[in-house]
Amino acid sequence: MAEKIKKTEAKKVEKTSAKSTTAKSETQKSATLSDLSSVNKLRLLYELQIIDSSVDNIKTIRGELPLEVQDLEDEIIGFDTRIKNTVQEIKETDSAVAKRKGNVETAKNLIKKYEEQQKNVRNNREFDSLSKELEFQGLEIELNEKLIKELGAKIKEKKREIEATKTMLADKKIALEEKKKELNEITSETANDEKELENRAEEIRSLIEPRLLTAYNKIRHNARNGLAVVTVKRDACGGCFNKIPPQRQLDIKLSKKVIVCEYCGRILVDADFAGE
Ligand SMILES: [Zn+2]
Repeated sequence: MAEKIKKTEAKKVEKTSAKSTTAKSETQKSATLSDLSSVNKLRLLYELQIIDSSVDNIKTIRGELPLEVQDLEDEIIGFDTRIKNTVQEIKETDSAVAKRKGNVETAKNLIKKYEEQQKNVRNNREFDSLSKELEFQGLEIELNEKLIKELGAKIKEKKREIEATKTMLADKKIALEEKKKELNEITSETANDEKELENRAEEIRSLIEPRLLTAYNKIRHNARNGLAVVTVKRDACGGCFNKIPPQRQLDIKLSKKVIVCEYCGRILVDADFAGE
């Protein structure tokens, strides 16, 4: 597809260049030097337009793919970060569990110790005091075991989350590979054409006076179809299709100055430039 576009456009440019040479010799006979440079100026602009349009076409073929690849890469980074964060949270929860288990061990040891002491008490007061301690340590074990259970459930949930994210991540990675492959195929097909066109466009740009080039870029930027230079087609502007009065058409044909469409502001050039 890209190859086809390139050939068509190349032919167009070729035609324009060939005509340019003919026009040069014809004009040289009858026109002044400034007229001659006007014709060349307009021809260069038109040639630049054709090349820029070809590059636009290539970019259209590539379409949204570069953006889609970028989006997938961003999503993958997001999922990776999410997994890393969840792994960290599990680690922290694990150490919280370890701490609670330590609390249980300490309480159990204290219970053993208090029970031993209870066997050798001298009075009821000492016995009651130890009973209170035993009761307290019992509650301590209960509380910590409840928390350990809750933390365990939290860890399980986080592990499920990681598994789910890993599944999504794998899907995104497959999608990314597919999109990248698609983009690479299109890019490798068109890369040479694009480079060639860009080089030629650069060459032409260097020949056009900066002020005119700025105007061209501005019009092109504002035009929906990227057309800044159009030919007259069936007595109308080739950009907005509004009728052009005969006298104006005559002026355009003479190519003595830069004439813009009074409706859309595009630069109008002789239909012969396009070989139409
Ligand atoms: Zn117009």
